[in-house]
Amino acid sequence: MRKIIHCDADCFYASVEMRDDPSLRDRPIAVGGSSDRRGVISTCNYEARKFGVHSAMPSSTAKRLCPDLIILPGRMEVYKDVSQHMRHIFYDYTELVEPLSLDEAFLDVSDSSLHHGSATLIAKEIRQRVKNELGITISAGIAPNKFLAKVASDWNKPDGQFVIPPSDVQAFVTKLPVKKIYGVGKAMAAKLAEINIFTCEDIQKFSVFELSQRFGVMGSRLYNLSRGIDDREVTVGRRRKSLSVENTFTHDLQDIDRCLNELPLLAQQLVTRLRRVEDDYKVVKLFVKIKFNDFTSTTIERSKSSVSLVDLQELCKEAYARKNMPVRLLGVGVSFIDLREDQAFFQLDLFN
Ligand SMILES: [Mg+2]
Repeated sequence: MRKIIHCDADCFYASVEMRDDPSLRDRPIAVGGSSDRRGVISTCNYEARKFGVHSAMPSSTAKRLCPDLIILPGRMEVYKDVSQHMRHIFYDYTELVEPLSLDEAFLDVSDSSLHHGSATLIAKEIRQRVKNELGITISAGIAPNKFLAKVASDWNKPDGQFVIPPSDVQAFVTKLPVKKIYGVGKAMAAKLAEINIFTCEDIQKFSVFELSQRFGVMGSRLYNLSRGIDDREVTVGRRRKSLSVENTFTHDLQDIDRCLNELPLLAQQLVTRLRRVEDDYKVVKLFVKIKFNDFTSTTIERSKSSVSLVDLQELCKEAYARKNMPVRLLGVGVSFIDLREDQAFFQLDLFN
């Protein structure tokens, strides 16, 4: 049985704007394209939602509904930073983090022993940390699978969380409207309504055969999801997560000073290689790897957002001190978060 947490920031871009300019807090604001250039609202705060403003709405419509609406152009760099920091927090709880966008991710905490394995308490702590460290709020859904976790994160929004324990799954899905199922859009909902399907309970009355005949591949998904069954794993991006350069020396480096002497060249090579990819990746950690002449190796890493020689020197000294013996191989590297998908999502979201 899996334990999945879906984390989702509350009106993300707007929250960041309110955080950085508290005078916006009680006013209706949105982030998006300007209304005189046929822009679209990307995110708006709850104040604006009271007027019926919502994301994906043309900014001109939003202005008509709410003449006092303040539409901000958006600051992608800042959102990316906040997103990165948020993800960093997630990684403190599990390696299995699947980002869905800048402000949303699935976490599989099935194997976590933190808080005695309580996903509810883990989610609580994550939300508290995001609030303290980033000054914005997020909501969380906790459930045995991705589908239900995502539905649950919406249940007590904003700044809330909702748990669907395995024993409650059946009861929970019974009343769930079909439009809450991922992949069921307006068109699909209309087709379902034609045969009197409005809730998951209604779907359950049909056999998988009937559903597949009517809806193809989606049919069997409907069959399973309506029963709260979703076997999709939390998939970690398969793209590169780190970049490093290393050198195996023909003659062992006999002491720490010789090691430190080698660092500037390695750092330079690292920076050069990093330059080629840095638009796609955001550096989150710096590490130094040492292989001693007894063939054991050790790696020390530290949270950093860029490469600096001073940091590398410190890490190197620390790593060397672990064994204090001649060094055969010295490596330096960075770990990062892949921003490419985020960026694609962001642009689609904000400028489409
Ligand atoms: Mg969100």
